[in-house]
Amino acid sequence: MALMTAQEYIDSLRKLNTRVYMFGEKIDNWVDHPMIRPSINCVAMTYALAQDPQYAELMTVKSSLTGHTINRFTHLHQSTEDLINKVKMQRLLGQKTASCFQRCVGMDSFNAVFSTTFEVDEKYGTHYHENFKKFLTMVQDNDLTVDGAMTDPKGDRSKAPHDQADPDMYVHVVERRPDGIVVCGAKCHQTGSINSHWHIFMPTISMGEADKDWAVSFACPTDAEGLYMIYGRQSCDTRKLEEDASIDVGNAKFGGQEALVVLDHVFIPNEYIFLNGEYEFAGMVVERFAGYHRQSYGGCKVGVGDTLIGATALVAEYNGVEKASAVKDKLIEMIHLNETLYCCGIACSSQGFQTKAGNYQIDLLLANVCKQNVTRFPYEIVRLAEDIAGGLVVTMPSQKDFHSETVVGRNGETIGDICNKFFATREGVNTEDRQRIMRFIENLCLGAAAVGYRTESLHGAGSPQAQRIMIARQGNIQGKKQLAKEIAGIK
Ligand code: SF4
Ligand code: FE
Repeated sequence: MALMTAQEYIDSLRKLNTRVYMFGEKIDNWVDHPMIRPSINCVAMTYALAQDPQYAELMTVKSSLTGHTINRFTHLHQSTEDLINKVKMQRLLGQKTASCFQRCVGMDSFNAVFSTTFEVDEKYGTHYHENFKKFLTMVQDNDLTVDGAMTDPKGDRSKAPHDQADPDMYVHVVERRPDGIVVCGAKCHQTGSINSHWHIFMPTISMGEADKDWAVSFACPTDAEGLYMIYGRQSCDTRKLEEDASIDVGNAKFGGQEALVVLDHVFIPNEYIFLNGEYEFAGMVVERFAGYHRQSYGGCKVGVGDTLIGATALVAEYNGVEKASAVKDKLIEMIHLNETLYCCGIACSSQGFQTKAGNYQIDLLLANVCKQNVTRFPYEIVRLAEDIAGGLVVTMPSQKDFHSETVVGRNGETIGDICNKFFATREGVNTEDRQRIMRFIENLCLGAAAVGYRTESLHGAGSPQAQRIMIARQGNIQGKKQLAKEIAGIK
């Protein structure tokens, strides 16, 4: 089958029986729901750009499994060049959506599960790798979006999965049948889960023998019996439900999406199982998936950062301060920070290596350094954007006020007249354009998109401490001590 168009992707979602709940109710037409649709438009962009001749070379690639042309979001990386192109593609998508475009979690799980299943089979003679290759061929040929689901609720963080008061705090097998397994549990803050055709579930931590039933990985259709989702709120999200508020929304076209995904006795046939009790491989799949996703942030967040830097430069121009040396210097600092993140994304890709299964893995130390910087620099970029844009980002009256015909002035001026009079700025600048860019900055720094840009920069792909643990493990302090000893003449 050929690549899907953006429209075909959106239509394909309507055919699924996905169960979505929001504000305490089931949402039947979730595809057209004003709070959900922007996030669908974002994923649709991954399809649209693949059809665009200008970007086709970056967005599409030959499948290593079939030789067919596929979307890069479904690809197994075959070289360090592929890893670099992945980061470039993510930066491009961030630039085009100013948001989280969600499809990377699937791509990162494909590459992590592909290499891990190979090594599990090698040790146990299982058939997980074959299962996975068949599944991925189906995904590639049908150009599907798949959610990579890793983060369990975790309950009491001091206890292992088998020790939890409620065993559902980690996804686990509740029944083993000759034809498959039955699973229960949930995954929290799952990016793009509702917008995906399928899910890949993976463990979220290293596990011991007693956690065998929790060491499980599998694929499952998003509308499988027993699977449902509860939509996550975002800051300022209900502005999307208001009339005459498209400017107030800040980014009316695009947005991110996270949900709680619940598995209530879902049956998984044998052919979709990729790990089932081989607990010592749980840590491997976590480390690999996290590594890829930490690389991803050196692309997607940089692209979104580009739009924020652009918006900040525009607001400086609209306010008439673009020539001030302090403003110029702050913009330089924003670029410097943003490009440093890109350097990290490219570096961990260029230092990648081939796994036993044949696909390419990023350099783990550099990917963790990349993500550690992403937990910090977007905060400083946001601070500088707010500094230059000024307080109006958070105090400006609503779009309805700018359009209001209610008379308030002595000479018959409307609320709209008054807003437009006092929020005008230098000559030649349209007040509405200034309003738009202020709201766009608000959206990225504090509103719905801040979920994907700011807070996700901290917690997405693992919270800061998770990277520090990996940096400690990979940092080779012993080797560094040896270097010092040799030069200092210490035996
Ligand atoms: Fe992709 Fe970035 Fe969203 Fe993760 S946070 S899914 S890498 S856009
Ligand atoms: Fe993310």
